[in-house]
Amino acid sequence: MDEFALIRRFFDRGAAGDALLGIGDDCALLAPPDALAVTTDMLVGGRHFFDEARPRVIGHKSLAVNLSDLAAMGAEPLAFTLALALPAADAAWLTEFSAGLFELADRHRCALIGGDTTRGPLNICITAFGHVPREQALRRDRARAGDDLWVSGELGAAAHAVAERQAGRVAADAAAARLDWPVPRIELGVALRALAHAAIDVSDGLLGDVGHVLERSSAAAGEVLGAEIDGPAVPVDAALAALPEPMRLALALAGGDDYELAFTAPPASRARIDAAAADLGIRISRIGRIDREPGLRVVDRDGRRLPVNARSFDHFR
Ligand code: ADP
Ligand code: MG
Repeated sequence: MDEFALIRRFFDRGAAGDALLGIGDDCALLAPPDALAVTTDMLVGGRHFFDEARPRVIGHKSLAVNLSDLAAMGAEPLAFTLALALPAADAAWLTEFSAGLFELADRHRCALIGGDTTRGPLNICITAFGHVPREQALRRDRARAGDDLWVSGELGAAAHAVAERQAGRVAADAAAARLDWPVPRIELGVALRALAHAAIDVSDGLLGDVGHVLERSSAAAGEVLGAEIDGPAVPVDAALAALPEPMRLALALAGGDDYELAFTAPPASRARIDAAAADLGIRISRIGRIDREPGLRVVDRDGRRLPVNARSFDHFR
């Protein structure tokens, strides 16, 4: 199977979706109706996933992490490209990989419109394109003092599954599913356009990612912004129910790979945010507020500060 046969067989489905032109020319052509949202994520074998990971999972996840970035901007997916380095043209692997990829792509009507294919150590790089009305993009730097801090879904199970696998144990199904099959919150992001001030997807851990929002928003506002998080309000994944309480909270606060949305919004939006999430059947939790005290503080039921390590995951640390 040569390179072109491989592309034809596994990736070129002859459909360009919302694009003007898809696979087969030197470039694809897009005509976005509003601001174009662009994001790239690269997944490297042995680093972002375990080498024995099922190719269907890898296909799903490599697109899901990109769609999650679009969700965090309030953008709707338009299309994506796929740059792939493969150790071999393994038809069984490619069948499963492309099935996982297109299952998610089709769910969001997001067409594969181009890419590049070479031989090399397994490496998957996807660039996703979306669109969002330019004044309504959910930027990280738009949080304001007095905003509520919210998060979708439940946190911590994916990080627990990673730790279990790293320790050579088999992660419980519910936790493994959260790691392998993240659900990008596209519809929630779109619903939040008119309601939220700032948003980020929780990929490196809640504290670290909220820290990014504070840093960017402080710089943009020209004043120091901080946040107080109400520990008991943080939604810990039900898959962690059997773990001791401090460990559950630590995983929910600092674990990565959750792909939920953390966002800030004025208290006046509360009822509409709750209604929008209920319509979508997505759990959301109001976990704290943005204020003018420096730092990210987590408090317990009695308002006492909990010692937390706010470091998020950094590949070069
Ligand atoms: P060029 O040499 O002009 O960059 P290529 O020979 O690399 O073109 O690719 C031929 C066509 O197939 C292009 O339209 C490219 O976007 C597409 N393509 C290549 N690899 C992939 C892939 N993995 N998935 C989707 N489209 C691909
Ligand atoms: Mg090329």
